[in-house]
Amino acid sequence: MRLCHLIFGAVILIMKHLKIIRVILSVVLAILVTAAIFCRESECSWLGWFQKFQLMPALISFSMGVCAFWLAVSLLVGRVYCSTICPLGTLQDAVAYFGKKLRRSKIGDYWYSRPENRLRYVVLGVIIVCIVAGQMFLPEITDPYMIYEKFIDNLFSPAVAAIAGEWIVPSLFGMALSLVTLVAIVTLSIKNGRTFCNTICPVGSALSVVSRYSLLQLEIDPDICTNCGKCEMACKASCVNAKAHTIDYSRCVLCLNCGAVCDDNAIRFTTVRKRLSTPLMQQVKGKVPQMTIDAPGGDFNSMIKMKTDNKK
Ligand code: SF4
Ligand code: SF4
Ligand code: SF4
Repeated sequence: MRLCHLIFGAVILIMKHLKIIRVILSVVLAILVTAAIFCRESECSWLGWFQKFQLMPALISFSMGVCAFWLAVSLLVGRVYCSTICPLGTLQDAVAYFGKKLRRSKIGDYWYSRPENRLRYVVLGVIIVCIVAGQMFLPEITDPYMIYEKFIDNLFSPAVAAIAGEWIVPSLFGMALSLVTLVAIVTLSIKNGRTFCNTICPVGSALSVVSRYSLLQLEIDPDICTNCGKCEMACKASCVNAKAHTIDYSRCVLCLNCGAVCDDNAIRFTTVRKRLSTPLMQQVKGKVPQMTIDAPGGDFNSMIKMKTDNKK
């Protein structure tokens, strides 16, 4: 019994620290991916490994090993890709973090919203058709890695070069496109967190198909949850419904914010979905919930009526 408590305590401790580990990892990987884009033609060719692990470029270049690796990871635990190696995901998190600071929100002010399945899977279908047909314009302007690479090439690199006294002149169309995309993604992140990830991003949509069936999933334990709602407010993917005790795992980007804010340790990874152990009341769609008590020869209301009539 004591061993069980020790293991349980260790799991909770790890859950609490997983978010910090995840944030550090994503920042380090974003720096390395950015450095890889900068040093494309230099000696540091080993940095190119971080580009090779990006999903869409791997798919386009038929790097089946990389695709199989991310498929296996997503089937095991969900969208780890979105919380670690995707530089656009980290950029959105950074922007959302500073947006939260500006709004002086302590936990976050996100709310559960319904999934935009029609939009995200239509976009994914169109991108697949484009790739098969060899038309790369749409995949290039929607793929998160390519968007990030173009930010660096069209906006960041010329600015850094100008500070160093050199002039790099990118195409005006490329600059305008990168600027418009950057403004759109930054605005969405400040307002709603990971909206881009759960609507337009084809990589996120493809991963969502797999991650909804992943072996390990985050779950709210309804027996422990005190309905404080903090996890829902902290979820930048808007996929936690605290009232219903559900997490839409197809949209969860595994940021682990929910576990970090839950003081009751009601959120954890599990392989088995749990239900309320004692369902006291259940709301049937369109009906007002009513308390019913089995009474001999009739229901509770008629029993009360009978007693009142007897008194008379
Ligand atoms: S959904 Fe797309 S943009 Fe968002 S983190 Fe995942 S891969 Fe990156
Ligand atoms: S933060 Fe924890 S206790 Fe609060 S609603 Fe979420 S799961 Fe329940
Ligand atoms: S449910 Fe939301 S807050 Fe929790 S890990 Fe997933 S995306 Fe992050």
